[in-house]
Amino acid sequence: MKLERVIPFAHQLLEKAVTKGDIVIDATMGNGHDTVFLADLVGEEGKVYSFDIQKDALEATTEKLTSKELQEAVSLHLCGHEHLKEIVPSMYHGKVTGAIFNLGYLPGGDKSIVTMAETTIAAIEQLLQILSKEGMIILVIYHGHPEGAIERDKLIAYVENINQQEAHVLRYQFINGINNPPFIIAIEKR
Ligand code: SAM
Repeated sequence: MKLERVIPFAHQLLEKAVTKGDIVIDATMGNGHDTVFLADLVGEEGKVYSFDIQKDALEATTEKLTSKELQEAVSLHLCGHEHLKEIVPSMYHGKVTGAIFNLGYLPGGDKSIVTMAETTIAAIEQLLQILSKEGMIILVIYHGHPEGAIERDKLIAYVENINQQEAHVLRYQFINGINNPPFIIAIEKR
């Protein structure tokens, strides 16, 4: 297949926006795959701020980072992403170049603990305040579970109304897939 799949496409966008030494955010750390990806991107000089509300996620991510000797570049928070602006030091406000949300539930974990549109939107609003110019927010939207479909609809309604002077908003989606495959919203601050 020549068309880029959803997750590699999301990573490509982040690779364009983020360079070594940058400050970035993994808003939904889960099992740590995106945190590791971001830590590799920013290198030892940069910093990844990662958030999750589940202890299991922190433990899985700590283990992954330690085994790859990447823990120095990462700051893990057992805390909802809706508090990210309080946690990212103010000296970095205006300097955050990338953020990713992998929405839904923790793979292999409790499927009743899911991301919710209200807190996701609160976090996006804070990010839009602290991103750098051309900073990028990626939302990977999983809408195959009931809460996911509700979150999708609220998020689409929200992002469609972001002022075009403030940000470019892109949707990347395979539209004939069965079982509601995930899709991406990318928001680039202007
Ligand atoms: N990116 C992760 C990975 O690489 O494994 C997968 C993330 S998983 C699909 C979604 C995660 O979001 C879950 O671990 C869940 O606990 C977390 N979550 C739910 N609500 C949250 C919130 N308000 N703030 C931060 N994380 C949240």
